[in-house]
Amino acid sequence: MGGRNVHLPESVVVCEVGLRDGLQNEKTQLRTEQKSELLEMFQEAGVRIVEVGSFVNPKAVPQMADTEDVFRRIRPRESAEYRVLVLNAKGLDRAVACGVRKAKFTISASRTHQMKNANRPPEALFEQLGELASSAAARNVVLSGAISTAFGCPFEGEISPEKVAGVAREFEKVGVREISLSDTTGMANPRQVYAMCLEMRERFPGVVWNLHFHNTRGMGLANVLAGMQAGVTRFDASLGGLGGCPFAPGATGNIATEDLLHMCAEMGIETGIDLDRMIAAARLLQEWIGHDLPGAVLKAGKNSDLHRTCEKNEN
Ligand code: ZN
Repeated sequence: MGGRNVHLPESVVVCEVGLRDGLQNEKTQLRTEQKSELLEMFQEAGVRIVEVGSFVNPKAVPQMADTEDVFRRIRPRESAEYRVLVLNAKGLDRAVACGVRKAKFTISASRTHQMKNANRPPEALFEQLGELASSAAARNVVLSGAISTAFGCPFEGEISPEKVAGVAREFEKVGVREISLSDTTGMANPRQVYAMCLEMRERFPGVVWNLHFHNTRGMGLANVLAGMQAGVTRFDASLGGLGGCPFAPGATGNIATEDLLHMCAEMGIETGIDLDRMIAAARLLQEWIGHDLPGAVLKAGKNSDLHRTCEKNEN
């Protein structure tokens, strides 16, 4: 690589979160068999980290009510990771009961968001986190952390690195080694992401960082690039850009997996995932969900497709 090259990683890990973050924000509920079929397609495409669902109150989030069944149907691949979201000890019990090895626990960097979301202040969650971590460890489950509204909160506005570090410290204290910074409502911008990631990596050198962007305001992939430049190599994405934002009706969901894969492919960054297979999965998902998904590559095709189909209309 010559001196004109921007600093980028050679490879990144793409975590598919559509079955959880995407579906939980959709009105249409997929059947368990449909979820399993998509999950199998992800695996065939080479996806090695899948967020399968969450163990939350099925009355509150009916889309996730069948997470146990989806999990039990997985045909596990070697070195693949199947994670679920848990909110409390009860969720962790359900996870353990169906053989989950990786559970994710989320705490908001914004007090107001945390109160609105779970009706409890962050300190209450810090307390709960200790018990959850030891209970998980005792049962051979790896607990990872997520910090929601890490780049901005619809109620509090800007979130300082101090606040984010405060939550990260609580995770670190109880032995959590992997933390996701989540731009829950799509407020992050690339300059901020770059600075935040550098600062967190400096402050917590023992932590593996993951980035979770929503494309609510069209800044998702730009934020990914900023994260890469700051040395982060793990990114969540959702098939087709499925999902939305509970605080912004009509807004788009996570960055689309195919768009992220396509960008990486164009830039020569290895993902180990077959883009065509994921586009096929996104088409199927779009059909099942019954409305257009926001993914750009899903609509426009890949760069390499265009060379073949548009050569007569160049101008
Ligand atoms: Zn999210």
